Amino acid sequence: MITITDLTVRSFDLDHLDMVWRIADTYEEELDYTFYVERAGAPSGPWETVSSGLKQQYLFRDGAVNQRKHNTTYYYRIKAVHNVSGEFTYSQPGHQGAKMPREAAVMIYNENILFTKFTGMLCWLFPKKTFGQKCQVCYDPILGRENISNCLTCFGSGYVGGYHRPVRLHVQIFPMAQQVQSDTFGNSEQQNTSAMCIAFPPVSPEDVLVESDNTRWRVVRVETSERLRFTVRQTLSLAKIPIGDVEYSLPIEEENVLNLAVADPYNYSIRSSIGQDDANHSQEVSDGHNGPFNT
Ligand SMILES: [Zn+2]
Repeated sequence: MITITDLTVRSFDLDHLDMVWRIADTYEEELDYTFYVERAGAPSGPWETVSSGLKQQYLFRDGAVNQRKHNTTYYYRIKAVHNVSGEFTYSQPGHQGAKMPREAAVMIYNENILFTKFTGMLCWLFPKKTFGQKCQVCYDPILGRENISNCLTCFGSGYVGGYHRPVRLHVQIFPMAQQVQSDTFGNSEQQNTSAMCIAFPPVSPEDVLVESDNTRWRVVRVETSERLRFTVRQTLSLAKIPIGDVEYSLPIEEENVLNLAVADPYNYSIRSSIGQDDANHSQEVSDGHNGPFNT
């Protein structure tokens, strides 16, 4: 049985609570497990399942919570079910830490509109794996290190698949400085640029970012801008991945892409029963008025 660790619940805007979890390193098959997110108003429950069955997915965005009108603390836990045996286990319950101050909420709301509607382009992020099912092709458990390079099973990460399922997000990528030079061997210098995006999903160094024209970048560094200790924006340093590198074989299959900007359809149905203004909210966002706190 796997062990779920490190459940973190955060808010990057007033419309969502975002949770991220991990599993302890294992040689069990990741795909043998299905995850469910459960929510409660108290740490003792009662618990309600708010996600569909999640496969190889370690983040979830709950769009059914209304943080404007309610002083509720929402508690979450993750259930992992073994598909064959039906055995299951839970994470420790987690809840959101500090409530988001209004001022931070305004900035995040505006940033979100800016990137999704104006300056950002649709991209796909492959988060590099740092936990999960260990690669047995190249990982030497005795030496505790990878024993071949260019392993196609784990892309050198030591974890099967190398990357988590891609996540859709909007990124503003700045034009690349013209610094391409060939040396005497015909190699070109690494091409670097920078980019910006909103706070969710959190981007980490070594993640792979794919543009819609299939240009692929490796994230080298991430800096965050904060307002009252809430992350408002991420600034990324990117290095272009040469065409033909193994990262170009990472598949983008639309049915496998996590679209975290849109809440799970299940959430839409319960969302309308939570706050009466919620049903109209998408309209408010699309016409750009009112902002996030028209209470
Ligand atoms: Zn490997």
